[in-house]
This record gives sequence, C-alpha cells and structure tokens, in this order.
Amino acid sequence: MSKIEMKTPLVEMDGDEMTRILWQMIKDELLLPFIDLKTEYYDLGLKHRNETDDQVTRDSANATAKYGVAVKCATITPNAARMTEYDLKEMWKSPNGTIRAMLNGTVFRAPIIVKGIEPYVRNWKKPITIARHAYGDIYLNSEMLIESAGRAELVFTAPDGTRKTQLIHEFDEKGGVIQGVHNCTSSIEAFARCCFNYALDCKQDLWFGAKDTISKKYDHHFKDVFNEIFENEYKEKFNEAGIEFFYTLIDDIVARIMRSEGGMIWACKNYDGDVMSDMVSSAFGSLAMMTSVLVSPTGVYEYEAAHGTVQRHYYKYLKGEETSTNSVATIFAWTGALRKRGELDDIKELVDFANKLEKATIDTIEAGKMTKDLALITTLKNVTALNSLDFIKAIRETLQSYM
Ligand code: NAP
Ligand code: MG
Repeated sequence: MSKIEMKTPLVEMDGDEMTRILWQMIKDELLLPFIDLKTEYYDLGLKHRNETDDQVTRDSANATAKYGVAVKCATITPNAARMTEYDLKEMWKSPNGTIRAMLNGTVFRAPIIVKGIEPYVRNWKKPITIARHAYGDIYLNSEMLIESAGRAELVFTAPDGTRKTQLIHEFDEKGGVIQGVHNCTSSIEAFARCCFNYALDCKQDLWFGAKDTISKKYDHHFKDVFNEIFENEYKEKFNEAGIEFFYTLIDDIVARIMRSEGGMIWACKNYDGDVMSDMVSSAFGSLAMMTSVLVSPTGVYEYEAAHGTVQRHYYKYLKGEETSTNSVATIFAWTGALRKRGELDDIKELVDFANKLEKATIDTIEAGKMTKDLALITTLKNVTALNSLDFIKAIRETLQSYM
C-alpha cells in the first residue's frame, strides 16, 4: 500500500514524561505506516527547553503562525520540585501559556463521546465545548506579598505623563496580598470573534458568563465587547444558522449547564476555562478523553490533549512496570491536525485517514478494548483492559481492517 503524501509540514511539538512515550508509539504504530509524515519537529521536552533557554518554545509558536497547523504533546510546567529534578536554570513559564499568548488564540475543549462511558451528569447527552480565553487575567499577573502597614494603589500613566490613581487598600501592620491583572480590548475582541466563528462552524449555541455585577469595569468590559461584536457582526449570521448567543452571570451559567443536555459552546474567561474544563472533562468520564485546540483569530490551529504528562504513570514506566495510559486524546490531537492540514492543502486522503483513525479508536473502545481508566468506569460488559502499547496496537488492527 502506498503512503499518503503531504504538502505542507505539520508543526510537531514533542513533550514530556508518559505522553512523550505515547507520542512515539502513536507515530510508529498509527501514523508512519500509513502517511509519508512531513513535520517540522520542535522538542519541547523540559530538558531541551532548559538547554535553549526556552527559545524552542517561541520558535515552535512562530512556526505555527507560519504554517498554520501544529500538534503538541503535553509538557511539564516547572514548579519547585521540577527545578531540582531537571536541574533547571530558571523556572520556565508554561509552554502552553507562551504559545497561547504569542498566537493570541482561544482554546476549545470538547469531550470525545463513546458508548459505554456515560457522563456523571445524567442529563448531559451531547458534548459541552469549553472555549477558554487564553490571554491575561491572573495568568499574566503581577502580585505582591505585603508584610507591613501601607497603602496600595492602582496607578495608570498615559503616554503624555498624566496619571490616574485609585486606592486598592490601606493595610494594617499584618499586611496581606495584592495582585494586578489586566486584559486587552484587542484580545477580548479576538476571543469574541474566535467564539462566534467557531459557533457558526459547529452550528452550536454560544453561552458566555462573567461576574459583571461585582466587577463593574473589568468583567463588564468583557460583556460589552461580546455584545457589541455580536450585534454588529454576527447577529444575522446566527439567525440564519438558527443558533443563539446567550449572556448571563457566570453563576447562572454554571447552574444552567448542570441542568442542560449539553451541545453548546461555553465561552469562559481564562480562569473559569481552566477550572471548568477540568470539571466538565472529568464529568464526561475521563480527562484522557478530552480534546483541545487553540484557534487564533487569523485561523491558525494548534491541537493537543487536554491532560498533562501523566507523571505517575511515567515513574512506573521508568521502573519497568506495566502502564495502561490512555492515548485517545493524544491520537485525536494528531487526527485533528492532520484533518485540518488535509483541508487546507486539499488532500482528501489525509482527511479520510484522520476520520478513519478516529472511528477506529472509538470502535476499538466500543468493542470492549480499552485502557484501565476507562475499564474502571465503563458500563460495557466483557471488557479487556489493555496496557499502553497493546491498546494502540488494538486500534491499529481495527484501522487496518478499514483500509
Ligand atoms: P495529568 O498529567 O493530567 O494527570 C493527572 C492524573 O489524571 C493522572 O495521574 C491519571 O490518574 C489521570 N490521567 C490523566 N491523563 C491520563 C491518561 N491519558 N491516561 C490515564 N490516566 C490519565 O496532571 P498532573 O499529574 O497534575 O500533571 C503532570 C504534569 O503535566 C505536570 O508537570 C503539569 O505541569 C503538566 N501538565 C501539562 C499540561 C499540558 O501540557 N497541556 C496540562 C496539564 C498538566 P491516575 O494517576 O489516578 O491513574
Ligand atoms: Mg486546568
């Protein structure tokens, strides 16, 4: 069988720990036998980020902007423990944070639904896609620990030198904490447009919630920007598509989401998206079944799994013990990227291949072959729990039967 040819390379961002092991298995078993894989490779493993003073992360983001489509493996965000473990020169920032900021993108996360893995919320029938604003707020904060009495102020200086000052708090001698956060109107606008466009692409309603009653300037600005762009640019298109845009307070959104049957895109501010995507993904069964794509307002896509590097499994792997790590979300990162590349370059075989690989993955699970995380929660009978490699090999067998 001849291999599928590619035109433009995919930007490939390799990563860390157990997901780096899965990455290689997926390539060897599920991609390289079928595709003449063209990638521009960036090693975002922590060791190499440290060696390059994190330049490799910035290079990979620039390559993504250049080529348009990237696929990323999970990576370690360093903390104090990692400083020692990897003998780091610096506590490098989260690569995801760096890439998101450079591409000014929005992250869309949706669960992969399979028969036999039922959501914990009984009324959820359709996937809930979370759109996380990927810029600013506490992720680009400036904070201070205050250890004496004193006056904290918010100061803004205009280019002409005029200053606006506002009291934050008069501290007593016990002090406290302060934090400066910001967001940019251009970024909120880009976020809104990404969400409206994606909702039109998927023909799903768009919900957005913030805390505008308490945060009368900050959160209210998000609400105003969304409303204005909707009224001016999207209202008619939404009417034609038969979908709606719905704004309400974030608490009200949470309550409504819990009672809904799903099937909507939920736009979240940065922190809400971080937290709620973990809640939604675990409620749909498993973090390992959650896909993630960063979309820039200029139409650049970076696909990845929503979970981390699965450190606990990696340490078992290093000791030579058997692991049963779920590779589904990482496989779907590859299929998402290959399908998008195929669409952009007009390569039908590549699009078909991506669809077949996704179907093979779902069919393998529905036939009762899955990793332990799923075997523990499935309602299917006669299930076989496979190790990391055997699961991928089982998918390959299913895939080959479709060729
Ligand atoms: P994690 O890697 O997502 O894993 C947390 C736990 O969830 C695992 O220990 C495992 O539970 C379960 N799990 C997650 N993915 C799984 C999979 N594919 N198959 C089976 N089980 C899975 O989160 P973490 O342990 O908090 O973080 C580890 C590292 O990942 C950290 O260094 C963090 O910085 C990084 N991280 C990276 C990204 C990213 O690059 N996008 C995102 C989040 C975290 P059991 O142990 O109970 O089996
Ligand atoms: Mg999170």
